[in-house]
Amino acid sequence: MKALKKIRRMKMMAQGGRCYYCGLPMWDDGIAPVAQAHSRSGLLPRMLRCTAEHLQPRSEGGANTAENIVAACLYCNNSRHRKKHPLSPAAHRAHVRHRMASGRWLATQIGISIQEAR
Ligand SMILES: [Zn+2]
Repeated sequence: MKALKKIRRMKMMAQGGRCYYCGLPMWDDGIAPVAQAHSRSGLLPRMLRCTAEHLQPRSEGGANTAENIVAACLYCNNSRHRKKHPLSPAAHRAHVRHRMASGRWLATQIGISIQEAR
């Protein structure tokens, strides 16, 4: 297993299998997609795949170390790095939670209940 994957897996376990940003249950290779049971669309499992999220982006010199990596779902990870200057992790998390509360984040778009999130 590659080092980055090991870190990702370790972080996912430490986070109770939930995304650092949105708090939804994620899945990873060989780990059953917890969220699949709640899904009404194939989009959900795909977007809730666990990814290694660099708190300090690689483009800004962020390292592949346990200290710099959290487990985040593909959707949250992509949405943060879509911006030219990504929000700080704390700001992005606040942004995600705010969007979820107002029904404008992945969960509500594809029919997973917010109660699934922490
Ligand atoms: Zn997420």
